[in-house]
Amino acid sequence: MEMTILGCSGSLASPDNAASGYLLRMSDGQRILVDIGPGVLARLQVHDRPGDVHMVFSHLHPDHCLDFPSLAVWQRYHPTDAATRRHTLLGPSIAPVHLGRASADRLEDVDDFSDIFDMVTWSAPTEGPVAFPDPAYTEHRIGDARLYAAPAVHPTESYLMRIEDADGSSLVYSGDTAATPHLAAVATGADVLLCEATWGERDNGNNPPQMHLSGEEAGQAAAEAGVGRLVLTHIPPWGDVEGALRGARRFYDGPVEVAVPDMVVTPGL
Ligand SMILES: [Zn+2]
Ligand SMILES: [Zn+2]
Repeated sequence: MEMTILGCSGSLASPDNAASGYLLRMSDGQRILVDIGPGVLARLQVHDRPGDVHMVFSHLHPDHCLDFPSLAVWQRYHPTDAATRRHTLLGPSIAPVHLGRASADRLEDVDDFSDIFDMVTWSAPTEGPVAFPDPAYTEHRIGDARLYAAPAVHPTESYLMRIEDADGSSLVYSGDTAATPHLAAVATGADVLLCEATWGERDNGNNPPQMHLSGEEAGQAAAEAGVGRLVLTHIPPWGDVEGALRGARRFYDGPVEVAVPDMVVTPGL
C-alpha cells in the first residue's frame, strides 16, 4: 500500500494545503480515497484519475467531505474519465442523506448516488476497547483490502479506521477524535498511525473537550499501540506544529513526522 497526502490542513484548507484527503494505492491496483475535504479533488487530479476511486469517510464534518458532490459530478459526467463501474462508498450511517443533501438541487431533495456508488455503513465494536485483531471488529472489503472501524470521540458519528492491504501492510487513521482507548487498541502493531494532532503545546488547558487530540496524546497512542511510524496530521493553519511534534516525541520514541501535501508514505517499508 502507498499513501499520498492530498491535503492535511486541519479544520479547513490553507492557501497551500487542502483540507483532509488521503489517497491509498493498494497492491491489487484499487484506489481508495479517505476523506475528501475542500481542495482535495483538485489535488487528486494531479495525482490520479478521480473517475476510478473508492470513497471512505471517517466522518462528515465539512473539512472531510465537502468536495464529494464534485467527485460525483466527475464520476458521472467526465467525458473520458467517468466511472465505468460502481465504487464502494464506506462511511457513517448518515452518509447517504448527509452527502445526498449536499449534492441536491432543491432543499427537499436527497441526491441518490447508487448509480455510481455502493453505499456501505461502517460497523464498529460497541464495547471494548479490544486489541486488534479481534472478532469484535467487523471486516469490510474493498477489493483485496480489509477495513475495520472503531468508535471515535467527536461531536458527529465518527470512526477510527484500520486498513490492511493484501501485501500485509497496515495503516491506521484516527480521523478526528478526542483521546480514546479505542485508538491504541485498533492501532495495535500497525505499520503506520496517521493521527490527528490538532493541538500543540501553546493550546494546553484551552482545548474544548470531546473534540481533538494533542501531539502528546497522539504520541501516547502510538507508543501504547507499538506502531512502526507516526505521522501527525490535521494541524490547522494557525496550529502549533513544532509543539505538536515535541509533544508526540515525549511519549513515542519511534519515527515521527508531520504530514505535508504530496508526501508519500509506504506502510511496511
Ligand atoms: Zn477535521
Ligand atoms: Zn471533525
